[in-house]
Amino acid sequence: MDAAADRDSPALARSVRDGYAVRASDLPGQLEIIGEVRAGERFAGELAAGQAVEIMTGAPVPSGADAVVMIEHTRREGTRVVIDRAAEAHQFINPRGCEAVAHEVVLHAGKRLDYADIALLAAIGQARVRVYRRPVVAIVATGDEIVDIHEFPEEFQIRNSNAYSLAAQVARAGGTPHVLPVARDTVEHTREMIVQGLGADLLLLSGGVSAGKYDVVEEVLAEFGAQVYFDRVLIQPGQPLVFGLACGKYFFGLPGNPSSTMVTFEVFARAALELLAGQQEIALHLPLARLTCEFRHRPGLTRFLPARLSADGSQVTPVNWHGSGDIPALTRANAYLVADPDRAEYACGELIRILLK
Ligand code: AMP
Ligand code: MG
Repeated sequence: MDAAADRDSPALARSVRDGYAVRASDLPGQLEIIGEVRAGERFAGELAAGQAVEIMTGAPVPSGADAVVMIEHTRREGTRVVIDRAAEAHQFINPRGCEAVAHEVVLHAGKRLDYADIALLAAIGQARVRVYRRPVVAIVATGDEIVDIHEFPEEFQIRNSNAYSLAAQVARAGGTPHVLPVARDTVEHTREMIVQGLGADLLLLSGGVSAGKYDVVEEVLAEFGAQVYFDRVLIQPGQPLVFGLACGKYFFGLPGNPSSTMVTFEVFARAALELLAGQQEIALHLPLARLTCEFRHRPGLTRFLPARLSADGSQVTPVNWHGSGDIPALTRANAYLVADPDRAEYACGELIRILLK
């Protein structure tokens, strides 16, 4: 629901500096100090020509005053204050209602609440607000080679890292992850896990969507009458990527290679989660950074490659890696280079798009 201001903000003209409330037309000059006003109180009298009221930041501006002079630009001499410079009318005063007027909508529905939004809700006295609940996101890793992280894998096995990276990504995006047991590469077991997964608001599967003999995810989803919106995207990592609707629930079949799973979540699945969470504006920010070295890739696909962004965010360096399964390389990256499918080469110092990790 939209949230509206319950009164003008500020409710009175307020000083934004410690100093003296004055009439601008009196300055420069020597003024008689007739009192003080602090934040949290109101000055009872009225300021006349030749007078000043000592004022603190946040305090209401006394009537009759039209400017505030910073304490640093004043000199006090007994009951008088000497101000050697001119002042502009309205300086250092926030007029009543300049931030918001009563009943004005200050926060629109459909926005993920950030800390400033929380401050605003507090400021307008909204102690209870209606929000979307966090979508529950079922996570089903697939693969006969995948073992639980508590096990020591045989040489031909690997631990289930995707369920954990996805759970972290889901939580960061505002969902509640629900990790289900690994689906074995059989139609029966994959079916069992998909049934459970479709009980959530969104189902994320990892692996089993390539063209291999034991990639059964799509076959099983077809049994559920799934409507598939796409099953391939022109990005790498992540070409085989399935998105559809089954039994009234959206699902993604994410490719199983760890970096493919991570990238396709960020680029596609996160948007779906955010929409399910009631967010109305979905953005994928791809800012530009300058390459610290020459960079080449094979055109045809948009590539997301692990990279390190300098502390100031202006420069980017590709991270050495050994392909989509190289998790250690991904941990050394804090961003992805986003290589344009129409360009094979970038010179050192050229701008390139990045996706923050
Ligand atoms: P798939 O998409 O099922 O062909 O899987 C591709 C590759 O991704 C597999 O050979 C594994 O090396 C890796 N992989 C699949 N699932 C996982 C997982 N849950 N955790 C870590 N790596 C995985
Ligand atoms: Mg597999």
